[in-house]
Amino acid sequence: MKYHKPTSFKEAVALAEGAEGVTRFLAGGTDVLVQLRLDIVTPDTLVDMKAIAGVKDITRNEDGSWDIGVAVSGAEMTEHPTLGKEWPGLVEAMDLIGSTQVQGRATLVGNLCNGSPAADSVPALMATGAVVTVEGKNGTRQLAVADVPTGPGKTSLAAHEVITNIHIPPRGQNAADAYERFIPRTEMDIAVVGCAVNLRLDGDKIVEATVVMGAVAPTIRIVPDAAKAIIGTTLDDAAKDKLAEAVRAACQPIDDKRGTIEFRVHVAGVLAKRVAQTAYDRARTAH
Ligand SMILES: Cc1cc2nc3c(=O)[nH]c(=O)nc-3n(C[C@H](O)[C@H](O)[C@H](O)COP(=O)(O)OP(=O)(O)OC[C@H]3O[C@@H](n4cnc5c(N)ncnc54)[C@H](O)[C@@H]3O)c2cc1C
Repeated sequence: MKYHKPTSFKEAVALAEGAEGVTRFLAGGTDVLVQLRLDIVTPDTLVDMKAIAGVKDITRNEDGSWDIGVAVSGAEMTEHPTLGKEWPGLVEAMDLIGSTQVQGRATLVGNLCNGSPAADSVPALMATGAVVTVEGKNGTRQLAVADVPTGPGKTSLAAHEVITNIHIPPRGQNAADAYERFIPRTEMDIAVVGCAVNLRLDGDKIVEATVVMGAVAPTIRIVPDAAKAIIGTTLDDAAKDKLAEAVRAACQPIDDKRGTIEFRVHVAGVLAKRVAQTAYDRARTAH
């Protein structure tokens, strides 16, 4: 196995392009190293991203948008003094990943590129409307986070392409997000269902919303009908029932020992109502 530690994204792309066999980029390594040790994926080439300038930066731009570096860990997001005030749902989703040890390494980008339909930070990241910058042998492109996962363990990135940045749009006024998952244990488990909601209010009325469901389909899914069910409402009981109905209609879950199809579909509706309420309550007290 060849291990490289490039100091620029250009060099990382060139290394990936020139590599034969299986290549993995190393952010926190909490998926890559586990898969390696369990003989699930044995990379021929490892390209460690952590020596590239800026990958540990969390930056709030003048327009209120955020850039998050590709090696920023969950712990660094949680400890940031203002990120969690503007994007509490994103930070709480990332904070659910693993243990204290895992938090010191795990990244948003790794969670996204691992391609798990049950990834915890990805629904919240999609709900923000985040865009990633992708660099490859043909240049640089911008890609909505929602367009990255294509199936379990799969992404739309070519083998030579690397994500260089995560850009989160400005939070704006009267808005908030939330994320929750259902797991059979209290921690250190994989989501049976995950749900993120990001919404904006005008007075008490919801004027913008994004609802994203995890672990209920082969990819994490934005559910536009669920957003429609609550836009224009004050999240009264009727709106919440319609939200649950729309979410359940979008579910195509697996049936396994951790949850039957019937159970997952039911929980999806319950969770969506709860998470929407949290986002709504947060937005009412946001500036
Ligand atoms: C004990 C334990 C508990 C866990 N609990 C959870 C949990 O509760 N919820 C959850 O969602 N996950 C969980 N995970 C999985 C894992 O921690 C997360 O998926 C984590 O976010 C992965 O990030 P990483 O930086 O460690 O990724 P890495 O392992 O470094 O990389 C993961 C994938 O992303 C690719 N990649 C990395 N950086 C880039 C880049 N810049 N451009 C393109 N591709 C890139 C790699 O090639 C690889 O395929 C757990 C793992 C462990 C070991």
